[in-house]
Amino acid sequence: MIAYIGKLVLWILLFWPHQGHSGETNLKDTIIAVDIGHTSQHVGAMSAHGRGEFQFNLEVGQLVNKELVRHGFTHTVPIINPKNLYSRTQIAQKNKADLFLSIHHDSVQSYYLNEWTYHGQKLHYCDLFQGFSLLVSTRNTEFHKSLLLATLLGQKLKQQGFVPTQHHALDVPGERHAMFHANLGIYRYDNLVVLRTADMPAVLVEVGVIVNRREEIRLRQEETQNKVARSLADAIQEYTGIIASRNHFQPARRSP
Ligand SMILES: [Zn+2]
Repeated sequence: MIAYIGKLVLWILLFWPHQGHSGETNLKDTIIAVDIGHTSQHVGAMSAHGRGEFQFNLEVGQLVNKELVRHGFTHTVPIINPKNLYSRTQIAQKNKADLFLSIHHDSVQSYYLNEWTYHGQKLHYCDLFQGFSLLVSTRNTEFHKSLLLATLLGQKLKQQGFVPTQHHALDVPGERHAMFHANLGIYRYDNLVVLRTADMPAVLVEVGVIVNRREEIRLRQEETQNKVARSLADAIQEYTGIIASRNHFQPARRSP
């Protein structure tokens, strides 16, 4: 039912007449929090070749920042190494961010992992799954806008040749997540702290599966990372345009 209502609202948001591109002023007024998942101390997932997820998140996050500036957004809030999970959205709120994008790289349930040795190091991999995911929470106060943003992110990633993974929807322990949009890799993750505590539209992107040996190699390439960053910035630009045209006759959310 929620998925149905979500799709209906999304349809209205997407097909409501809008200008397509936002004016320069809207981009300059829009504040985007770019949250780099995990920290240099607690690196998140370990890749098939022994590199911590944080490093992937940091590289892509920095490129996203650069792309956003290139697209005309002058105000981004990078969130790197905060003291805890809750301070991520607190930083975004303090900086009056209009949207929150959390950047992560994906793994699989531990029972899918196989052991192998790479450069003398015992590591784990799983080549069964690959692709991106976009996570949204119905507990976010701006859930419908989050879903709109996720839809645009998924569309842009797919246009650049990226394919979503379906593995979080598998009927196995630890997964069984509902999907709002299987084609676009959009999942329902209601309880993720950053998504439900953000008081602005929020999406968590899992760029790809770094325990997959071939996908990891692709995700390390600068060309892939640039393409990801461009897709994400394109989607945010389009999202800003849609929201700006909808708010045209409404008072601004923030006082100047
Ligand atoms: Zn992560």
